[in-house]
Amino acid sequence: MDNNFEVIVIGSGPGGYVCAIRCAQLGLKTACVESRKTLGGTCLNVGCIPSKSLLNSSEMYHKSQTEFNNLGIEASSIKLNLSKMMNNKNKSVLTLTKGVEFLFKKNKITHLKGKGLISMNNSVTVLDDSGKKTSYKTKNIVIGTGSVPESLSEIKIDEKIIVSSTGALSFDKVPKKLIVIGGGYIGLELASVWKRLGSDVMVIESLDHIIPGMDKDISTEFQKILNKQGINFKLNCKVTRVSVLKNKAIVDFTNNKSKIIERIECHKVLVAVGRKSNIGEDILKLGIKLDNQNKIKVNSKFETSIKNIYAVGDVIDKGPMLAHKAEDEGIAVAEIIAGQAGHVNYDVIPAVVYTFPEVASIGKTEIQLKKENVKYKIGKFPFLANSRAKVNNETYGFVKIIADEKSDKVLGVSMISAVAGTMIAELALAMEFGASAEDIARTCHAHPTHSEAVKEAALSVDKRPIHF
Ligand SMILES: Cc1cc2nc3c(=O)[nH]c(=O)nc-3n(C[C@H](O)[C@H](O)[C@H](O)COP(=O)(O)OP(=O)(O)OC[C@H]3O[C@@H](n4cnc5c(N)ncnc54)[C@H](O)[C@@H]3O)c2cc1C
Repeated sequence: MDNNFEVIVIGSGPGGYVCAIRCAQLGLKTACVESRKTLGGTCLNVGCIPSKSLLNSSEMYHKSQTEFNNLGIEASSIKLNLSKMMNNKNKSVLTLTKGVEFLFKKNKITHLKGKGLISMNNSVTVLDDSGKKTSYKTKNIVIGTGSVPESLSEIKIDEKIIVSSTGALSFDKVPKKLIVIGGGYIGLELASVWKRLGSDVMVIESLDHIIPGMDKDISTEFQKILNKQGINFKLNCKVTRVSVLKNKAIVDFTNNKSKIIERIECHKVLVAVGRKSNIGEDILKLGIKLDNQNKIKVNSKFETSIKNIYAVGDVIDKGPMLAHKAEDEGIAVAEIIAGQAGHVNYDVIPAVVYTFPEVASIGKTEIQLKKENVKYKIGKFPFLANSRAKVNNETYGFVKIIADEKSDKVLGVSMISAVAGTMIAELALAMEFGASAEDIARTCHAHPTHSEAVKEAALSVDKRPIHF
């Protein structure tokens, strides 16, 4: 094999593999190094994809138990077969990781198997499983090494009883009692999965609200909904210790306000307190500049502090740690390397929590706008008044649109809805094109759809909703 490339991408997550495909499309001779057995990174192997598979299966199971009867569907003896559910998840992961392999072949991207180590700004050494080292020359390097689960100094993850999200995606039986540390989207999605499958679930969160970063109205309403589903919350509580005794875990936590100390015994503990950038020794040795959170500093062209070395995805100091953000950066950096004008609009990146109902947001929250002294107006529309949500018995939540007080330009949107993750795409497009609330209000929306609530929320910005 010819060991000279124009681009070597390190890591095949959504940032890395998408970057490699775009580089190849642009005619650049490209290789992608991956240390994992399969391509696709965290997202396809132990993140977005397996979690969504379990969310989908567990939701169907739960609905079959709680809702089918009311709809006149009388099914008897519906039973959970967890190992089959896990097999289905594993099959989806395999299909999609194989899909990336196919795309690499189709685009003539060289897949280098092993750990990629940057030796210089034009050289990458790949260390394979057998210990063999091979060096490759390249004009450009793109770091897409992603992130790994974060823990707390007082907690040791063993992936048996005290697990990260990776462990919680593969329990071999439903834990009787599960404690989730962290009320962010990963913790809440997995809390939902296991609650639906029969666990007694408690979420412990150190802040006074769940899903930090999202609109306060949304987190309050969302917590109420999850509470009704039977998920218990201990907010404003800091976990001080987790110990394992026989086959159980003991979780100690303190209420930040009252200082009351509590101890709860459970069968599994999921530590979902965030993710940290995956910075290898080679990056440290080369002296690539990092920010105070240990993320690689990049400029607007995704260049690191070393010439010809770029970085994208979870490992960089820009934007949220999300797969679609990583993908857009992958495309942008490929175009920049090819001499084009790659760009990512960080003001318009949707975020979704794939529970039931789903939660989605984009743009600014009220708190952010207040901090920035921006005057705004709000339009809100509840799904209680949306015909499609009504016939589907899913009248949870609302759409909230925040628009600039003077110009009417949409600045932020958040929503709770059965299909919020799909609905938010309309708002991303609207905001990308600089739409006003009036533009959305005057756009014809199909009836009966959940999306009509977006139109109604836009009409509500000008206090003229039709159905509420
Ligand atoms: C449980 C869970 C659910 C999630 N759900 C969602 C979701 O629904 N939507 C969403 O947008 N995001 C979700 N995420 C986040 C998403 O997975 C990440 O934001 C995304 O994968 C980041 O992509 P990346 O390309 O930066 O890195 P990663 O996907 O982390 O990929 C990095 C890859 O680089 C490889 N690597 C690292 N170092 C080296 C090296 N030296 N040599 C070779 N290979 C190396 C790693 O093995 C890995 O495969 C979820 C994450 C988790 C954990």
